Amino acid sequence: EGAPAGNPNRRSRLIVLAGPTAVGKGTVAADVRRTHPEVWLSVSATTRQPRPGEENGIHYWFVSDEEFDAMIERGDLLEWAVVHKAARYGTPRGPVELALASGHPAMLEIDLQGARQVRETMPEALFVFLKPPSWEELVRRLVGRGTESEAERERRLETARAELAAESEFDVTIVNHEVHAAAEQLVALMVGSDSS
Ligand code: 5GP
Repeated sequence: EGAPAGNPNRRSRLIVLAGPTAVGKGTVAADVRRTHPEVWLSVSATTRQPRPGEENGIHYWFVSDEEFDAMIERGDLLEWAVVHKAARYGTPRGPVELALASGHPAMLEIDLQGARQVRETMPEALFVFLKPPSWEELVRRLVGRGTESEAERERRLETARAELAAESEFDVTIVNHEVHAAAEQLVALMVGSDSS
């Protein structure tokens, strides 16, 4: 713990975006895609159920436990983790390698456990921590989203508390006061996007 996180002025073609639940990682990533379509965003596999409006292959690859096991066995996942003690999530390896080979910036939006695994296998990546303006604001966003039960919210807040303590492991911190501003800060860290 507390190891220096590297040169904060570094930029990379591979961005790993992590941060606690409901901080707005998905919204910030979507804003990056909207304004910079050349940025490739990894679609994770997960064993959790889709929320209303979520589409297979767009938000996630929704897979069964058996399919997830098979992906692990074949070595198809760059990293994977059990998140919020609820479901498994993992990053398909092949698409990331293709995106990087194509020369476009690539972004992974994953949890802390996954980020730690990627740090081992792809140390050239830039690790970005997205932080809420305050703990109260994080709780407000989670409740406002209204997609989780009370018990599930409690579990996510417990994980969030631990995740917030890991900020120092990251190369860069971005505070998500406002989505578009946070997205632009993220783009500024990428090599190979139109604005770089
Ligand atoms: P949600 O269920 O709200 O979509 O996501 C829950 C958590 O899973 C978020 O913190 C998100 O960053 C994380 N997550 C999503 N995809 C992946 C992945 O591929 N790997 C890992 N390790 N975490 C992921």
